[in-house]
Amino acid sequence: MKIIRQIIVLFLMFFALNSYAQVRARLVVSEGPGRKDTIFRLTDGSQQSYLPVTVLKGRKEGPVFSMIAGIHGYEYPPIVALQELLKEIDINQLKGTLIVVPIANVEAFYNRTLFVNPLDGKNLNNAFPGAASGTITEQLAHCISNEIIDQTDFFLDIHGGDASEDLLPFVCYYDRKDIPEKTAQAKELSEKSGFDYVVSYPYTIGATEPAKYAFKQATQKGITALSIEAGKLGTVQPENVAVIKKAVYNMLIQLNMYEGKIKPVSSHKTPVYLNNQTYVKVPQKGIFYSEFKSGGKVKNGQILGYITDEFGNKLTEIVAPTSGIILYKVGTPPVNKDETLFCIGYNGG
Ligand SMILES: [Zn+2]
Repeated sequence: MKIIRQIIVLFLMFFALNSYAQVRARLVVSEGPGRKDTIFRLTDGSQQSYLPVTVLKGRKEGPVFSMIAGIHGYEYPPIVALQELLKEIDINQLKGTLIVVPIANVEAFYNRTLFVNPLDGKNLNNAFPGAASGTITEQLAHCISNEIIDQTDFFLDIHGGDASEDLLPFVCYYDRKDIPEKTAQAKELSEKSGFDYVVSYPYTIGATEPAKYAFKQATQKGITALSIEAGKLGTVQPENVAVIKKAVYNMLIQLNMYEGKIKPVSSHKTPVYLNNQTYVKVPQKGIFYSEFKSGGKVKNGQILGYITDEFGNKLTEIVAPTSGIILYKVGTPPVNKDETLFCIGYNGG
């Protein structure tokens, strides 16, 4: 009996100490045509969570394309767009495999928390590459990196403005110079996506530096990776759901993974390219006022708004450090020191 008890104790310790990586099978993407829903169970020993993943395998062979929503659980248009795509995608028309993560951060989603997972206070989009035996957020990052990014040819991370952010819809990629063919592919998919604005970020991290962001992790692994930003201020805007779906279909059609015709950009003949960004940080905590909206054009030196204390006394004015277009900004009154107040995109050095 003593031996049996010891075996049971060891068995329980194994499950308590080891995270998902040691106790469950890998995500299977190679089975025959059809749909398979999988739930990855995560535990840090005291708290539990999970990651829902759907694999859609088409009738014909082709590449693996992954799309993920809800890394930030308060960004609803990406989540709703993937719900609709899960219903709509016809595997008879699909060449290859789709890996779909409908909500990556279920705890933030159901608890309605901005940016972070309430279980550990960590931002999943700051946690890559993650850790197999870390906190729940670190395990989520590790699981996405190892189970999804490692098995995919194309990786699309879909975000929007969080509940406090006013955001101009855009598609973006990293301008990684040392894998030019992958970067060119990401640029081409961005151009075909149907978004009016194509943003590229400089890629400067080394091979072993933490990538922090999901699609930067995929870029670091040498995979063709993009991100979409569409939606804002904690609501579901049908036009942003539609623009996300259009972009996904356009990318799949461009890759010859789905039947159909590419729907081009809506308001410009060609997309507007913005290859540089300036971030205006909050200088001090207070109540923020601004007449500007996302998509607004600003000039270097222009006053963008101001911050007051709780008594209404003006503390500071916010001045544009560069000319450009507002990609996103804080869209609600409270601001805290060092948060990003404005992201201004522009083209050029
Ligand atoms: Zn986000």
